[in-house]
Amino acid sequence: AKHAGGNLMKFYAVEMNARALERLDLENGLRHAIEHDELVLHYQPQVSLSTGAIIGAEALVRWQHPQRGLLPPVDFIPIAEQSDLILALGEWVLRTACAQNRVWRESGLPPITVGVNLSARQFTSQDIAAMTGRVLRETGLPGDALELELTETILMADTEAFTRATEGLKALSISLSIDDFGTGFSSLAYLRRFSIDRLKIDQSFVRGLVEDASSAAIARAIISLSHSLSLSVIAEGVETREQLAFLYAYDCDEMQGYLFSRPIPAEAFEGLLREGREL
Ligand code: C2E
Ligand code: CA
Ligand code: CA
Ligand code: CA
Repeated sequence: AKHAGGNLMKFYAVEMNARALERLDLENGLRHAIEHDELVLHYQPQVSLSTGAIIGAEALVRWQHPQRGLLPPVDFIPIAEQSDLILALGEWVLRTACAQNRVWRESGLPPITVGVNLSARQFTSQDIAAMTGRVLRETGLPGDALELELTETILMADTEAFTRATEGLKALSISLSIDDFGTGFSSLAYLRRFSIDRLKIDQSFVRGLVEDASSAAIARAIISLSHSLSLSVIAEGVETREQLAFLYAYDCDEMQGYLFSRPIPAEAFEGLLREGREL
């Protein structure tokens, strides 16, 4: 048994080494990717339920890996978040999305807001308002054409520095939204405290809209909460006509999901905007 235990330990050591190496490899690869333009943004349309028109785009990052093909964020964002790499990645995403929206606005297309996802570390390890202000100046995008998506986890870091950061962002006329709303543990008081503009109903509630009474009740409650606080509300992950019908009935403001479009490359998104595609 002792012998087998020893072998097992050796096996774990080898296994752990392989994992550590793979992580290091990914980390180095990602650093290279940020510097050599291997990252790309796809844009997913956000649509008004009252007009049917595209009113925004969420920027979602992908990694065009030289060997492994197009990687989804779940394959590399968690690794980036374990180090300051997420700061460089986050700034690249913000700059690229702002520059792109500036180009769209200058080319006479209907003006939209671009949404960018933020990680917790971007609030704790840098001056996010200063960085964002710089990016807006350098790209020429007005602050009111940018929305930053926070999670409830970020909100719970209710510190002096965080308060200052959100005030700095509001001073730039940027909109703030809460992503995956309803899945975290943030107190509703935070919605006022941090001048939140919009709630994004998590996909899990949208998925259950038709079959599951409690998902439907939660979605409905989030919509009425938003309206009583004068926030706007968008449903994410809308895949079917039936889900859309519920959202109409509940008076939801906006939707985003495969039913209208998957996240798509910038040129394809521009095509939808140009042809005036409606819901
Ligand atoms: P998220 O912010 O909640 O983004 C929505 C995710 O749902 C996206 O996955 C999107 O492609 C997917 N989605 C959209 N509509 C539908 C639908 O109708 N049905 C289904 N089943 N899925 C839908 P994606 O692009 O793989 O991104 C996953 C997560 O990675 C994002 O979740 C976000 O948390 C993170 N992420 C993406 N880009 C960035 C970034 O630039 N920075 C940071 N910090 N995180 C990012
Ligand atoms: Ca998001
Ligand atoms: Ca989300
Ligand atoms: Ca999510």
